Amino acid sequence: MKFIYCPICGRKLEEKYSWDEGGVPYCPEDKIMYFDTPRPCVMVAVIKGNYILLLKQSYIFKNCRVLLSGYVTNGENVEQTVHREVYEEAGIKIKDLKYLGSEYVVNNKKELLMLMFMANYGSGYIKKSAEVEEAHWIHIKDVLNEMKDNEVGKRIIRKVLEEIEYTEEFIK
Ligand SMILES: [Zn+2]
Repeated sequence: MKFIYCPICGRKLEEKYSWDEGGVPYCPEDKIMYFDTPRPCVMVAVIKGNYILLLKQSYIFKNCRVLLSGYVTNGENVEQTVHREVYEEAGIKIKDLKYLGSEYVVNNKKELLMLMFMANYGSGYIKKSAEVEEAHWIHIKDVLNEMKDNEVGKRIIRKVLEEIEYTEEFIK
């Protein structure tokens, strides 16, 4: 996001030269440079045997299921974000968190750095949050079909299938 006004004092930002970055919006009052950076966000495939946890959240995608995801909050590291989001959205604990890579995504004018993970189910029963309509364990063979429009999510699932060396022929 390109900053025009200072989020602290509201003053219109000036351009200031920064060595590697060139001109950067700058508030001379607060002495802060506002770099044009994406928001870090996590997405995780939680695995339990041959099942993967998928949510239904109509405000994200109307007719398909999605992986769990959320924004990194100030004060936490990315691993903590994953544990927190899974617990908040589905009420379960996870273990064996594994980083699968990242993607730069622009979604509804929001610039995101999507950090992709897989994890194993640890403990607890599904207890979904109010912002989630459904949370279900979906069999691996059905997961890609259920996620029609969730392109980033499907790429994570394909990585997961490679990681766990899932070779059933019905997965394309
Ligand atoms: Zn300012």
